[in-house]
Amino acid sequence: MADDQLLVRGALAALLSLELDLEVVAEVARGDEVVAVALAVRPDVALLDVEMPGIDGLAAAAALRDALPSCKVLIVTTFGRGGYLRRAMEAGALGFVVKDAPADQLADAVRRVARGERVVDPTLAAATLAGGTSQLTARERDALVAARDGDGCSGSTVQRKPPRRLESMEVVRITPRGYCHGVVEAIRIAKREGAARAGSEPVTMLGYLVHNEHVTRELEEAGVALVAEPDRMKALEQVTEGTVIFTAHGISPAVVEAARARGLNLVDATCSDVTRTHDLVRELVASGHHVIYIGKRGHPEPAGVLGIAPEHTTLIESIAEVDTLELPDERPLAVTCQTTLSMWDTQAIIERLVERFPTIEVHNEICRATQERQEAAVLAADDVDCVVVVGSDRSSNSQRLVQVVREKGHRPAYLVDTAADLDPEWFRGVHRVGVTSGASTPTQLTRAVIAAVEALPETA
Ligand code: SF4
Repeated sequence: MADDQLLVRGALAALLSLELDLEVVAEVARGDEVVAVALAVRPDVALLDVEMPGIDGLAAAAALRDALPSCKVLIVTTFGRGGYLRRAMEAGALGFVVKDAPADQLADAVRRVARGERVVDPTLAAATLAGGTSQLTARERDALVAARDGDGCSGSTVQRKPPRRLESMEVVRITPRGYCHGVVEAIRIAKREGAARAGSEPVTMLGYLVHNEHVTRELEEAGVALVAEPDRMKALEQVTEGTVIFTAHGISPAVVEAARARGLNLVDATCSDVTRTHDLVRELVASGHHVIYIGKRGHPEPAGVLGIAPEHTTLIESIAEVDTLELPDERPLAVTCQTTLSMWDTQAIIERLVERFPTIEVHNEICRATQERQEAAVLAADDVDCVVVVGSDRSSNSQRLVQVVREKGHRPAYLVDTAADLDPEWFRGVHRVGVTSGASTPTQLTRAVIAAVEALPETA
């Protein structure tokens, strides 16, 4: 689903997720992210808004037709203009509906487009017919004109399946969940390098590209080896030739320099959100600040950020550390943070810093993908008995999802890597289970967990 309006996208995704046979597997806010994300998650249908930053939805539809022909396109737009409809059809879209269509019509439209049927809002189609050339067949034109004239075209052509009813536990699919744009891009880069250099030179990831073993295995199959050592400088000692890939959560400049000195070919898969934090810290230090960085010790992202200017940055993890913080000099202070922390924890630490250092400059750098997943999980917790988070225990954002559901949603939450980790004891007396997943969790793992939870019988 691609729509730059967060509220609209969230609402549409939530509505579609209520349909038991539909799953929103990825969300993006820009037209120029559509193809990369679609290639990574390979959806059956892409729902595209028209007006988006980057490229518009109609250009994205055309690009998707070339890059992933198996993915059908449904344009879902605020602007019901005939010209858009004509261009959408020319771009290969099968469906075109307006956003204020009733929710059940949208779900029907997705199903029909997935089956290869053409679905067009009848009023729009009529307007297009009045305006000039149409891409519709004669039969489709007749049906749409009949619909406009009140002959019930939609009703006669839409084969609506009654929604499936669960006999066991009900699973609430929390959206957004799963792959973020940074992970999708990092995987794409790594696979591209593995394919381009296959048989000519080794390609090595310096640490886990994302904190997920299933993705790592997939990449190894694509010709990308892994050095799992968490200390990136030590990991580099094991790479003697070929190409080295820096992971999504960034790298210290000292490691980059050392890799260059070894004569390696460098590929940077750092997420743009992490790069932005690196740039921010560079600017703050250059303008004379000392930077307090809120992060998790031992995670590669803080190691990368602190490596920018070790003498002018200080890592803290908790409120307690604010109270005991000793600063090396009299420089003005600024605070920023790791992209994948709990937004509530980070806010509390920042508030304590502001209490202690009222002039501190605040830059909250938790990424949008992390925030959206946390907010959705806490909101959904209200409506379920417990939440299952699918993700690796190495993944910071997956662990934070568990934490925020427990602490802010006040519901039990469990982290599972695969369906095999589910413990039936967790679900004793449970009727509704929320399922979400970390930003580095492959969709197929989440699907398997949902199926396994749905298969569990309700127990008193
Ligand atoms: S979780 Fe955020 S910072 Fe990390 S890769 Fe995804 S978008 Fe980038």
